[in-house]
Amino acid sequence: MHTFEFIRPADSAAAIAAAAQSKTAQQDADVRFMGGGTTLIDLMKLNVETPKRVLDINRLPLDKIEDTSDHGLRIGATVRNSDLAYHPRVQRDYSVLSQAILQGASAQIRNMATVGGNLLQRTRCVYFRDTTMPCNKREPGTGCPAITGHNRTLAILGSSEHCIATNPSDMCIALAALEATVQIQGTKGTRTIAFGDFHLLPGSTPHRETVLEPGDLITHITLPPPTAGSKHLYLKLRDRASYEFALASAAVVLTISSGNITRARIALGGVGTKPWRSPEAEAALTGKPANDATFRRAAEAALQGAKPQSENRFKIELAKRCLTHALRTAAAS
Ligand SMILES: Cc1cc2nc3c(=O)[nH]c(=O)nc-3n(C[C@H](O)[C@H](O)[C@H](O)COP(=O)(O)OP(=O)(O)OC[C@H]3O[C@@H](n4cnc5c(N)ncnc54)[C@H](O)[C@@H]3O)c2cc1C
Ligand code: SF4
Repeated sequence: MHTFEFIRPADSAAAIAAAAQSKTAQQDADVRFMGGGTTLIDLMKLNVETPKRVLDINRLPLDKIEDTSDHGLRIGATVRNSDLAYHPRVQRDYSVLSQAILQGASAQIRNMATVGGNLLQRTRCVYFRDTTMPCNKREPGTGCPAITGHNRTLAILGSSEHCIATNPSDMCIALAALEATVQIQGTKGTRTIAFGDFHLLPGSTPHRETVLEPGDLITHITLPPPTAGSKHLYLKLRDRASYEFALASAAVVLTISSGNITRARIALGGVGTKPWRSPEAEAALTGKPANDATFRRAAEAALQGAKPQSENRFKIELAKRCLTHALRTAAAS
């Protein structure tokens, strides 16, 4: 691993000022914040990330989970994934989030990993993690060997001719379905971004993954007030039962009244280049009877734009079945 300076900023202003000196907040950043380090240090050992300065943000006062005045929830960026998953209000009112976090990684990693870091975890595409290989995300303009190579686990939604990498997060799929917002503090003050606008599609700039600019510190995630009587489910399908990323997953938040679906929020994991909210599935569900025919129609709508690669055509049907089963199970709960 390369040498770097490890700094513990005294407060958020010092952290932001130091990070603002980086040439980018995306791939190739020369200053990085560190939460749990479970993504960053991993990638530094592989020389995929080579920051000259690492800013430990764990002493900043961003580790609280608090009720908002409208009965939503405000979650600090350094809250550990485990603490969030087991928080009583998350388990009661936002159970899809608790379920998603607990199906990710391992207990040890969840104890270290932070909310801010989880939002910014990087793809598990094997070429991205191997510096002997070209990769447009790691080194813009070098090409995408995954398109003609190993792409079984990669994306079928939102890809481009420049990158087909999957966003690997489970937590983010639940946050997309819950319509969370991301609070950011930067050199020009604070701003709030809708969760769906935080991650970017790869397009012709796959090295640019989020809207973050140099100096931007994620301070909080906010969840809107819960919808009374909503049913929550996160279903994750993967090659083995634990310690494995999703091949396909579905986060479902449904409200059903007299057998009809009155509100649906749907997001898919393991298939998209970003956490994949599906307005198409939501439209196909809303106002319809909560039955298998409706659920399958919603799944067809969600995957309508899917573009498979040479090794992952199976993901289209897998994702459809994943969403159909998640809807059926949530409706029956
Ligand atoms: C073996 C293994 C298995 C895993 N399995 C899964 C899985 O099944 N599902 C899943 O969802 N995840 C999985 N993960 C990923 C894991 O969830 C992430 O590594 C973790 O959430 C990252 O959080 P962190 O706090 O450790 O991030 P860090 O490594 O500290 O940071 C990650 C990135 O976020 C930036 N950052 C951190 N905090 C902030 C902030 N507040 N503001 C701005 N930038 C910030 C850092 O600069 C860095 O670029 C796995 C990880 C490993 C190592
Ligand atoms: S899919 Fe994206 S991350 Fe993977 S090799 Fe291609 S450009 Fe790199």
